Amino acid sequence: MTTDDRRTAVTNWAGNVRFSARELVRPASLDELRQVVAGGRQIRVLGSGHSFNTVADSDDVLVSLAGLPPAVDVDTAARTVRVAGGVRYAELARQVHERGLALHNMASLPHISVAGSVATGTHGSGDANGPLASAVREVELLTAAGELVTLRRDGDGERFAGSVVALGALGAVTSLTLDLVSGFDVCQYVHTELGLSDALAHFDAITSAGYSVSLFTRWRDRSFGQVWVKCRADEPRPAFPWAPPAVEQLHPVPGMPAVNCTPQLGVPGPAHERLPHFRAEFTPSSGAELQSEYLVARTDAVAALTVLDGMREVIAPVLQVCEVRTMAGDEQWLSPAHGRDTVGLHFTWVPETAAVLPVLALLEERLAPFAPRPHWGKVFTVRPGLLRERYPRLADFEALARELDPSARFTNSFLRDVLYGA
Ligand SMILES: Cc1cc2nc3c(=O)[nH]c(=O)nc-3n(C[C@H](O)[C@H](O)[C@H](O)COP(=O)(O)OP(=O)(O)OC[C@H]3O[C@@H](n4cnc5c(N)ncnc54)[C@H](O)[C@@H]3O)c2cc1C
Repeated sequence: MTTDDRRTAVTNWAGNVRFSARELVRPASLDELRQVVAGGRQIRVLGSGHSFNTVADSDDVLVSLAGLPPAVDVDTAARTVRVAGGVRYAELARQVHERGLALHNMASLPHISVAGSVATGTHGSGDANGPLASAVREVELLTAAGELVTLRRDGDGERFAGSVVALGALGAVTSLTLDLVSGFDVCQYVHTELGLSDALAHFDAITSAGYSVSLFTRWRDRSFGQVWVKCRADEPRPAFPWAPPAVEQLHPVPGMPAVNCTPQLGVPGPAHERLPHFRAEFTPSSGAELQSEYLVARTDAVAALTVLDGMREVIAPVLQVCEVRTMAGDEQWLSPAHGRDTVGLHFTWVPETAAVLPVLALLEERLAPFAPRPHWGKVFTVRPGLLRERYPRLADFEALARELDPSARFTNSFLRDVLYGA
């Protein structure tokens, strides 16, 4: 087990959230993890640190599971995979692909950990694709009592629905079992300069023009500068009459190196090398950015985008890029897509918190009629009372957390103040 007790050493990936944890420990085995948990201290598990707030922080000990054996056990016949709590998507997807199978979807970056992504409701895009947590069929947790508890989709119904998008509050996730699909190839096409009027008038047709569709705008004018359409190679490619195809590989933020992006221009390739926007072999440096995302009911997408259009002059000066994605609703209690087909309005901001926070406050006020749910891993200021209204099962989640962690050892300030606050 390695220990790093330099208080200032631990930050998130972007380097803009400094954790207050006293110690970062890296157990090398389940037994070592048990020892840490048996110590009786306040504890949180850190994934790959890609969140933009203090959701992962600990009042005392922070544990990384990256040193545990990176088990990835594929059951080809059952089409499932059991993956250890510290593994990242890039490695999982590669091994699953070698067995002729695939994940149903991926986020924009494959470098993020599976357990950490699932814990915050991370998602990709696609009208019929649920968030990444929707593929989870079993969660194995090491609880504060030192017990390994497994919650299953088939058998633990209600409690299971509370245990997947769980923000690390129930214990250390030592493994997850995920559903897989048959391996498939994807062709990625980028279209440029989609007019906002066309985007709003044909929103449903545009987001269903591929297996996964993302619309990018900088809100500097009334257009989506890029639309990324990822189509299954084994299905006919739908027409896209609203915007011309790009003639070269592009990065979603104009001026950034497109070589880091997954291949475009219709070149077919395995799903895990096309569904993320960024290549697994590209090593992202610490990101000079902040991110926020608000998830609204799909039925409110056009109205919410119209609100954003009316705020362009406020948003554009602090924005690097805004991405609009769709996802199928699910049943998980803290999932941003809980109970409704959903549209995510994502913002990559400039890394200047003082300039971004007032814009967020205004954005949250203007979007309030749509009861937007903030992404748990990104920056937001929505007050706890509103979160309770927008996540109707939040009280049930709190009760589940009390049951599995009665002395609140896996709780931190974020959970106390932001999630459970009044
Ligand atoms: C460049 C970039 C691109 C992104 N793209 C997307 C995207 O496409 N879609 C999207 O929805 N989000 C996206 N995100 C957000 C990101 O997916 C989430 O912040 C996610 O939680 C990151 O996973 P992580 O492992 O880094 O989690 P961390 O930030 O390390 O932790 C997040 C939460 O998970 C918990 N956790 C982690 N591992 C465990 C475990 N083993 N047991 C118990 N709890 C655990 C932590 O305690 C914490 O509560 C992106 C972020 C970045 C920086």
